[in-house]
Amino acid sequence: MNKREFLKASGALFAGSMLPRAVAGQELTGPRQNWAGNLTFSTNRLYTPASLDEVRHVVTSCTKLRALGSRHSFNTIADSTQNQISLLKLDEITLDEKARTVTVGGGVTYGKLAPVIDARGYALHNLASLPHISVAGAIATATHGSGVHNGNLATAVSALEIVTANGETLHLSRAKDGEHFLAAVVGLGSLGVVTRVTLDVQPTYQVAQSVYQNLSLDHLKTHLDEIFSSGYSVSVFTDWQNHMGTQLWIKRRLAPGDKNDWAPEFFGAKLATQKLHPLAGHDAESCTEQQGIPGPWYERLPHFRMNFTPSSGKELQTEYLVPRSRGYEAILAVETLRDRITPHLFITELRTIAADDLWMSTAFKRDSLAIHFTWKPEWPEVSQVLPLIEEKLRPFAPRPHWGKLFTVAPAELESRYARLTEFEAMLKHHDPTGKFRNDFISHNLYSS
Ligand SMILES: Cc1cc2nc3c(=O)[nH]c(=O)nc-3n(C[C@H](O)[C@H](O)[C@H](O)COP(=O)(O)OP(=O)(O)OC[C@H]3O[C@@H](n4cnc5c(N)ncnc54)[C@H](O)[C@@H]3O)c2cc1C
Repeated sequence: MNKREFLKASGALFAGSMLPRAVAGQELTGPRQNWAGNLTFSTNRLYTPASLDEVRHVVTSCTKLRALGSRHSFNTIADSTQNQISLLKLDEITLDEKARTVTVGGGVTYGKLAPVIDARGYALHNLASLPHISVAGAIATATHGSGVHNGNLATAVSALEIVTANGETLHLSRAKDGEHFLAAVVGLGSLGVVTRVTLDVQPTYQVAQSVYQNLSLDHLKTHLDEIFSSGYSVSVFTDWQNHMGTQLWIKRRLAPGDKNDWAPEFFGAKLATQKLHPLAGHDAESCTEQQGIPGPWYERLPHFRMNFTPSSGKELQTEYLVPRSRGYEAILAVETLRDRITPHLFITELRTIAADDLWMSTAFKRDSLAIHFTWKPEWPEVSQVLPLIEEKLRPFAPRPHWGKLFTVAPAELESRYARLTEFEAMLKHHDPTGKFRNDFISHNLYSS
């Protein structure tokens, strides 16, 4: 749409629906990109409502609409060729100490939320590698941290408020709505616009993290569970060379009075004596405190600090979740491609996620090992390697991260989600015209 067409269209929008000026779509100048810059959104029309009523106005006035979080996904899941809506202005945070929950507006990030609840004595069960992402955007894609007993971030959701296609407000809760709720939480942005999310909280806690260097991957053959259970949240990083984990990050949850001793060696890996970034050659200043120094949960569970660029910045990401019970086999299968992978790789991270009941979760009914790739921004080469990795992982029925890059065929994807057909039926029920369906959803969910 050129400027003249846009002005005409937005004029018509104003006249037709009497939308307040605040919710008229803005035509933003210059390319609008995702966080990594590998994707330019297909529309310049962005709505930024400041209240539930304004969200409802936007939803009813658009025939096509996609919610946008903090733009940290690497694929087109949040894209739209027509309209996007950002809930940045819906930033309420309401703690209910009696119910042990916190309710956040659709625009709140974990980075905003965590210090607020911590100051009141509360915490979340887990966080991703970075706090910069929005809660609504993270749960929509089943974003996860690590820990054999920790479900992904969406498992903390106890209730949702969603504006559906006809502008109605749908309230769903774990306590009252059974399977309907379990279907909606990892909603892939397709059920409607999530305006409020209620999360379980627990008493605040301290975490200490330390890094070990050079863990032979041989140890994962017989000790995978033991190594990934050596802390509350554990990550193994590898560049796939020399059958070696370059770094092992252990985040220990400390109860009052707990000892905080770290052995100088763990399965032959050596305790680091200085702070390290998981990506070789990157400044560790952007990383959360290491070397066993205790601190609040939200300053240790993520790898990266809030006011710094996480990871590399210019990068691509891919991740596949496989059954943890077959984790070592899956690692060996990927390792056969090491000389195709490493030249284009910043680093791989291995993490664990506990099984859950959320229909579209990558850990649905399956204790999982996540095999993640932070790639250099070399899409032509990376796009050649992904099908090779997916082929190697096929025997393990990998589920690709919904917010990262993958090439798995829709038919295969369908076979990996037992409730997919019912999920589609639920979307059809709430959104019969496909208002919230974009090309990503049409391709991956409906084209097989
Ligand atoms: C540096 C970096 C590190 C990362 N680390 C991790 C990690 O540790 N673990 C992990 O699992 N992932 C990780 N990711 C991936 C990231 O967590 C996911 O892509 C997440 O979905 C991004 O959230 P967002 O707020 O940016 O949402 P967006 O990318 O903007 O949107 C994602 C989806 O959420 C939907 N959505 C957003 N807001 C709403 C709303 N209000 N209502 C309805 N739908 C909505 C969108 O429509 C879209 O479908 C990382 C990404 C980056 C860039």
